[in-house]
Amino acid sequence: MNKIFRKTKIICTIGPATSSLEMLEQLAKEGMTIARLNMSHGDHATHLEVIRRIRTLNKKIPMPIGILLDTQGPEIRTGEVKEAFTLKVGEIIDISVGGGQDVEERSTIFVNYRDMIKDMNTGDKITVDNGLINLTVIEKSAFGLKCRVDDGGVMKSRRHINLPGIRVNLPAITTKDEADIIFGVKNDIDFIALSFVRSPADVEECKRLIARHNGHALVIAKIEDQFGVENYREIIRSASGVMVARGDLGVEVPIEELPIIQRRILKESAAQGKRAIIATHLLESMIENPLPTRAEVTDVANAAFEEADSVMLSGETTIGKYPIKAVQYLNKILLRIEQSGGIEWARHRAAQDRKAELARAASELADRLKADAIVIITRRGIMAEHVSSFHPTQPVILAFTNMSAVRRKLLLHRAVYPWRIDFSQDPEKTIQNAFTVIKKRKLLQSDSTVVIVSDVLAGEKRVDAIQVRQIVDDPV
Ligand code: PEP
Repeated sequence: MNKIFRKTKIICTIGPATSSLEMLEQLAKEGMTIARLNMSHGDHATHLEVIRRIRTLNKKIPMPIGILLDTQGPEIRTGEVKEAFTLKVGEIIDISVGGGQDVEERSTIFVNYRDMIKDMNTGDKITVDNGLINLTVIEKSAFGLKCRVDDGGVMKSRRHINLPGIRVNLPAITTKDEADIIFGVKNDIDFIALSFVRSPADVEECKRLIARHNGHALVIAKIEDQFGVENYREIIRSASGVMVARGDLGVEVPIEELPIIQRRILKESAAQGKRAIIATHLLESMIENPLPTRAEVTDVANAAFEEADSVMLSGETTIGKYPIKAVQYLNKILLRIEQSGGIEWARHRAAQDRKAELARAASELADRLKADAIVIITRRGIMAEHVSSFHPTQPVILAFTNMSAVRRKLLLHRAVYPWRIDFSQDPEKTIQNAFTVIKKRKLLQSDSTVVIVSDVLAGEKRVDAIQVRQIVDDPV
């Protein structure tokens, strides 16, 4: 039997529970494709340690782990509190603007957003700690906001604040984000997830910053508020991919809109041939429990049915009690759903150029022939990206490039398993190098049918070609 390849990729956020070399290795063994470094936590020294461990690990595992750096973005937080205190429903509290170092009195909460008083009006909502505590502004003065507690809870230090529907007057890339992105570029990370993207201009700014520092990281735009949702089509066009960041999105827009937004974004990214990541709360209960809830299993299944490129774990793998089990469950659920068949909307993607048409033809041919794999010889990864974006039903996509950085970037693409080989002047020799890896790694059994997309020589000229061949001991 051929090796079974999971099509949906798994991104794990690395934190205290998983940052050791042993845990990273175990996560990789169970199915982690990409490690996420969340810049909202930890310092550069800690993240650099993790990057180094992943590089060490990548030298010994067959498929490398890609690295995604996730920026904090224009995040609003409360200040420090000496001691946690409880806010009760109906209680009236004051909100004032102050630096992160302010000590809160029992009845005042300080926030680090300078324009908060200016931006807010009576009746506006404030959510604290991802919606656990909810407040309504009942009075505004030059010095602060008086708020009523709608949903009470325990107020701790440095809590995350959302102001649903308010266009926060903070730059898309803060000073901290810029330093973090430069740190990532200098350390050759593969993907930057840009938080709170509100328009394509934010993505373009990030791309310029990466280019200024000679980086090659791909930009993933996180859609996490109403403004991102309004502009999602243009944002997808400007970025390499999008993340449906359901944590913030779930408090920034009415929560019942979330499944609709998720589906729209996935459909649009598939139509544009871009990557899509579903993030947050996939297996949230596994932070504490050794098995997921039935609803979580169904949520993961839904992401697979919708043919997302990747799903992402956060708390489950940063602080959870069962990070390895969480990845095992994801792997199991995704594989099962993929074997049961998807929704098939991605196959309606419009091809815009010759390369994309060729990719569509290869994808359709592989499906019709029930081929075991599509083999792609791809220098910069573009052809593999195209084929993946047509979401072939049947086979795995084995991509062969001669560049390690391209290899790691292809990890994010649905169904693509990338390998590095040496390229030859003679395209046939390059195909034989790919076949050698297929046989040595036992990726496909002998007799497998493969559709190959590569160059062939037509006299002196190299031309694009699609071929159908069998994997045999002595390939023909
Ligand atoms: C989210 O909000 O779902 C998310 C992934 O972003 P963060 O974890 O950085 O808040």
